[in-house]
Amino acid sequence: MKYKEQLSIVSAFMIPPDTTMRLDCPFCHNKNTLSVTNDDYLLSWYCFHASCKAKGTEKKGVSMKSIKKIFDPQPVVESDIFNVPDSFKQVYANQKAVNWAKAYNCWEAWSWGRVRLRYDVKQNRLVFLIKDFESDEIRGAVGRSLDRETQPKWYMYGNKKYPFYCGEMEDAILVEDCASACAVSSVATGIAMMGTSYNDDWNKYLKKFKTIFICLDRDATTKAFDISNKIRYVGNTKVIVKILDEDLKNFETEKIRSIIYDK
Ligand SMILES: [Zn+2]
Repeated sequence: MKYKEQLSIVSAFMIPPDTTMRLDCPFCHNKNTLSVTNDDYLLSWYCFHASCKAKGTEKKGVSMKSIKKIFDPQPVVESDIFNVPDSFKQVYANQKAVNWAKAYNCWEAWSWGRVRLRYDVKQNRLVFLIKDFESDEIRGAVGRSLDRETQPKWYMYGNKKYPFYCGEMEDAILVEDCASACAVSSVATGIAMMGTSYNDDWNKYLKKFKTIFICLDRDATTKAFDISNKIRYVGNTKVIVKILDEDLKNFETEKIRSIIYDK
């Protein structure tokens, strides 16, 4: 089906702003295979069924949210504003980016709208956008290189003040990288350190969780216990350290659930 026709059908769903929904696909008629995202500036859709080619991205006019911003300006620290570069495209613009996200268990989080992924054409990276814990605004981005030549493997765009997180659960799992944070997000909210040392400013985000599991690998054992000491006295949050031999991004949801919650 032509792009224009797809657009008119997808627009008719009237997806609310800042929402991702899964729907029965009107193009291939498979159940629950179409993901539609209504961002502030983009309407995008993608069908997960192998036989279906439905996908697209449409730039919208100025949204209500942006209009509200103009008339109702919030005091924002200038250095916290992150301007999304033009080189960030929709993730399915690049097959390698899609394959990487699938191989490391980020795809489910993406398809349910828990993470905003992009593809950076300039740096050939799969990009994870960092949201603000409170306002949901974009505060930065982290890109994973998709070839050996592009270094470093993980690159931080913008400031490093905000941790990457994925999911909205009662418990949280602190992990090393964004892909692991996405992989755990059906079990608990994933929070990625991104190689940075623990920032005491993060306490204000972490105290809302019931339990925080710190899951780092054996090389980072000392770091894991240092962090647990910093968080332990924040609110009523319970802190549990789990030293792992393998990254959580290598596992699927049920395996992660048992690693975290089984004795
Ligand atoms: Zn379809």
